[in-house]
Amino acid sequence: MLASMNPFQHIDTPENLTQVLALAHAESMPVCTSGSLATYIPALSSANPNALGLALCTDEGQIFQTGQADCRFSMQSISKVFALAYVMAELGEEAVFSRVGKEPTGDPFNSIIRLETSARRKPFNPFINAGAIVISDLMPGTTPADKAAGFQRFVGSLVGRTDVEQDDSVYVSEKASAARNRAIAWFLKELGLISGEVEDTLDTYFRQCATLVDALDLARAGACLALDGVHPLSGKRALPENCAHTVKSLMVTCGLYDGSGEFAVSVGIPAKSGVGGGIMAAVRDRMGIGVYGPALDGHGNSAAGLWALGILSRQLDLRVL
Ligand code: GLN
Repeated sequence: MLASMNPFQHIDTPENLTQVLALAHAESMPVCTSGSLATYIPALSSANPNALGLALCTDEGQIFQTGQADCRFSMQSISKVFALAYVMAELGEEAVFSRVGKEPTGDPFNSIIRLETSARRKPFNPFINAGAIVISDLMPGTTPADKAAGFQRFVGSLVGRTDVEQDDSVYVSEKASAARNRAIAWFLKELGLISGEVEDTLDTYFRQCATLVDALDLARAGACLALDGVHPLSGKRALPENCAHTVKSLMVTCGLYDGSGEFAVSVGIPAKSGVGGGIMAAVRDRMGIGVYGPALDGHGNSAAGLWALGILSRQLDLRVL
């Protein structure tokens, strides 16, 4: 559909995409050993640190994959992109951005410090934990399970399947070990930014973070963002255009936390990571990319995944910044 408008058609041939994906996988595998698994959520420490899966979904819905692209893992912070899009689509931009800003922090994802020191007294953006917990509080529904079910249906509409669910062991594990997120949430309550019960809001947040996807899912959802909300498989609109624009802009400035600036310079595409090892990227009008590599760098981003995205960006001329 959009292929005729795509000036990169000559690079995006099936042969070239297959070859470049294989190259990126082979050259990034050794980088797995430079990272380490997230252990602060105990259930995440049982992943295979040498796993690496890559998937691409083109603007026409063609899928390419290599390695453990169909291995399911918890979305963790990638859920913050879906949650922002979901709540914006349901409640509008004003409901969201009256409570959360649009600015990067340069701080780690779980930092609490600016909630107290900033004159604005609201989280800087929806992709740090503080901002994401405010978004979880806004989700439509009654109980945390009900809110999470609505969220998972929405995720399903973007990844292209109807059986999206959470990993209960990851959910239970994070809920039992989330002292810092509890501190953040109570601070938000004091600021008047959480209307529900703090423990319920956190429960919704832990459920959304435990939502299971694979790299193929992330590639399809990334492609939907790349097409400004039109789904590459159905050709139908799955997300309002303004929601797609807003989440992609924030992915550029805040998607990899305090690694966002470095990634914008070295890779140059909108992306969002999670401590489960996933990265979702969206390349305007061309493709979505999904990555799974649970060994993380010091910022909590997939070490081999970042390396692979750098190779894909250079080989396929993906840079949009
Ligand atoms: N659930 C994780 C947390 O709140 C998500 C963090 C992440 O993926 N960066 O700490």
